Amino acid sequence: MLNRIDLRGARRDPRGLLPRAQLDVSQAVEKIRPVVEAVRHHGFGAIREATEKFDGVRLERLRVPRERIAAALDALDPDVRAALLVSIERARRVHADQRRTDVTTQVVPGGTVTERWVPVSRVGLYVPGGLAVYPSTVVMNVVPAQEAGVGSLVVASPPQPENDGLPDARVLAACALLGVDEVYAAGGAQAIAMLGYGSSGADETDGCAPVDVITGPGNIWVTAAKRLLQGTVGIDAEAGPTEIAILADDTASPVHVAADLISQAEHDPLAASVLVTDSPALADAVDAQLAVQVPATKHEARVREALGGTQSGVVLVDDLAHGLAVVDAYAAEHLEIQTRDAREWAMRVRNAGAIFVGAYSPVSLGDYAAGSNHVLPTAGCARHSSGLSVQSFLRGIHVVEYDEAALRDVAPHVVALANAEDLPAHGQAVTARFAS
Ligand code: NAD
Repeated sequence: MLNRIDLRGARRDPRGLLPRAQLDVSQAVEKIRPVVEAVRHHGFGAIREATEKFDGVRLERLRVPRERIAAALDALDPDVRAALLVSIERARRVHADQRRTDVTTQVVPGGTVTERWVPVSRVGLYVPGGLAVYPSTVVMNVVPAQEAGVGSLVVASPPQPENDGLPDARVLAACALLGVDEVYAAGGAQAIAMLGYGSSGADETDGCAPVDVITGPGNIWVTAAKRLLQGTVGIDAEAGPTEIAILADDTASPVHVAADLISQAEHDPLAASVLVTDSPALADAVDAQLAVQVPATKHEARVREALGGTQSGVVLVDDLAHGLAVVDAYAAEHLEIQTRDAREWAMRVRNAGAIFVGAYSPVSLGDYAAGSNHVLPTAGCARHSSGLSVQSFLRGIHVVEYDEAALRDVAPHVVALANAEDLPAHGQAVTARFAS
């Protein structure tokens, strides 16, 4: 079922040889650019048009009435409520530990630099809702924003025909549990444009004010829109169609490996499931397991498409050191290590959004209830970006304070560098203070 890529004996840079999706974000950007521009210039009318086209919903208004958010919590299944509370509690413990304290460095007597960590004012949190709905993503977005101290939190999620054109009721209930009451029924690129540029609404009581930072995962269209809006607003990372890579040796259970590959494939036909192993016997056993498990899975068609796509496959390597080089080159959103001495291999990984160590830390645990964040960089972005955290909502501001003696002391160096850069007015701005 999975394509096989045999890299045994091939020690050159594996990057160009690894499985990747055929449709990439830069191609998707060109497709959604007209939607983003239309929302920028025409607001609600353009959102309504795109929503009708892509979500099959005729929007009455953008903002979800507060009473519908409260009612969704009242009607929430008690088991889902209990699970959300566990997820929130664990995420809060992890993210509370990520808070930063201001640091003042005494550079010289009379000269200090303080780094102040200041939350952004208003954030737009995207919660997907196309092929699946994601109340868990409300938790993953909202908790770090709250722990960072953001004052104004806005959630946007696609309208669902079966919930009167509002976002999914469980998504609304999760918002209520976390005390978020500004929620918009918008999905895809039109939602990202609405958050980034702001938008008019159905009337003067409706509409969305622009945010400073947009976070959250989404499909390729959402990810493309985030790339387009970056600069107008901050974004967390490109957290697009899900990926799992599993580095495994002959100690791994083929039943577990197959189940974990399927678990991420069920997100999206563009999801990527990659097994990297030095054991051809394990690769064969996983293939055999997939043949058993895939027909029994609920979203079989989506899973087959994802597993059979160019983005998924089994990569055969010489040994685990070679496998480590391959998973580092791939830079997976989720990386499972199912090997002997798994923790030691995990500590050597350089590039991954999140790492799941050993037989009892599957990605699904991190999706819901490990305490870690599930909004993670995809498509190789783990080489340069991190998953969502408190840090995503903070800015570090340097506060510089020198007294007269400290400035006088360093003045010749400032003047020398200013002259070297042919910017003499910079030097004069210092020497002017000591002219008399
Ligand atoms: P979504 O909300 O991301 O996308 C649905 C929206 O896409 C719809 O509202 C619609 O407006 C728009 N859309 C659909 N088809 C379109 C088209 N042809 N052109 C333009 N816009 C279109 O929900 P989803 O589709 O269920 O996808 C969720 C995604 O989020 C999955 O790919 C999943 O793997 C990913 N995900 C990623 C992470 C991460 O951290 N990387 C975490 C969770 C989920």
